[in-house]
Amino acid sequence: MSALRAELVRLIRSEGPMPVSRYMALCLGHPAHGYYMTRDPFGVQGDFTTAPEISQMFGELIGVWAVQLWQAMGAPPSIRLVELGPGRGTLMADMLRAARVLPAFRAALSVHLLEMSPVLRALQARTLAGQAEPVWHDRIEEALDGPVIVIANEFLDALPLDQFVKTQEGWRERLVGLDPEGGLCFGLSGAAVDLAADAAPGSVLEQPRAALDCVAALARHVAGAGGAALLIDYGSAQSGFGDTLQAMRRHRFVPVLDDPGEADLTVHVDFARMAAAALRAGAAVNGPVGQGDFLRGLGLNERARALSLRATSEQAKAIAEAADRLTEPGATGMGTLFKCLALAHKELPPLPGFDLHRLPEQG
Ligand code: SAH
Repeated sequence: MSALRAELVRLIRSEGPMPVSRYMALCLGHPAHGYYMTRDPFGVQGDFTTAPEISQMFGELIGVWAVQLWQAMGAPPSIRLVELGPGRGTLMADMLRAARVLPAFRAALSVHLLEMSPVLRALQARTLAGQAEPVWHDRIEEALDGPVIVIANEFLDALPLDQFVKTQEGWRERLVGLDPEGGLCFGLSGAAVDLAADAAPGSVLEQPRAALDCVAALARHVAGAGGAALLIDYGSAQSGFGDTLQAMRRHRFVPVLDDPGEADLTVHVDFARMAAAALRAGAAVNGPVGQGDFLRGLGLNERARALSLRATSEQAKAIAEAADRLTEPGATGMGTLFKCLALAHKELPPLPGFDLHRLPEQG
């Protein structure tokens, strides 16, 4: 039995079944046995591959996006470039390289990283050595100060959420407990939970409180101090019912309770609710738009062509394949499943990549 499974069983025996958010938080962030706390999970050798690990073009385009945003902000002499959940640090390194096109921006920015994993902090320090002297933070409020440009790729999907199931007797909370053999299993709370939502029996409602709190904190901050936050993740543009919790190990889906601490656990991001939370907190909202539209709007095809001019035919093929993978629609590509949402100070013009997609009701 894995060390974390033993600990979960002990916890449930002494305290009773736990909310899904607690299970997720322990699986990902348990100080000794949490998934992210103990390893570098990315890439072909690992469990999953993210957009910055597919191609340097992803980070470079977002770097140019940040340059344009800084100019639209009136080129403040001091600005924090903040990344939430930077993984290996690849996205930040590619952004900073692209940002060299405008030395005044490069001179104005300081790099701030929100990262809970000591293993990944060390990896980020290595990736960024010579390029930046990052400051690491544990809490989002510490990372935000003054005008900011915030980037988060596949961060919100790792934040713990709770789940509720509609039964004939009303809503009940989905809990992780023990079956008669002492294995982990899902069950429902004995007491009904008062939820406003109306749904057919069997429906699952997710409550992504940590992600909504994070978005509200970002929105409040940019609305007051200036700047914008770019959130990229997989999820849906419309709210709906459904259980989106999934576990992935070695590039395959595995049952959520099978490998606690050994598999990545994520949820789909409900972009409609994130956008509504940002509007309520006083920010302007750009998007959500599909990652394909966003990257093409920033010039992905032109960048791919420019890189190919200096490449061998084999490299050119890899560049074209990466561009396709980042932008292709459907279940296999990242172009429509992944979405981009930006929260911004209300006086900023529509942000690059979103120009055609600003919510009309904001005027
Ligand atoms: N952005 C990177 C990594 C995505 S994986 C990429 O695109 O490749 C999620 C990242 O968020 C990891 O770095 C993980 O350690 C970090 N993370 C997850 N939950 C966190 C939390 N609650 N607080 C801080 N960092 C967290």
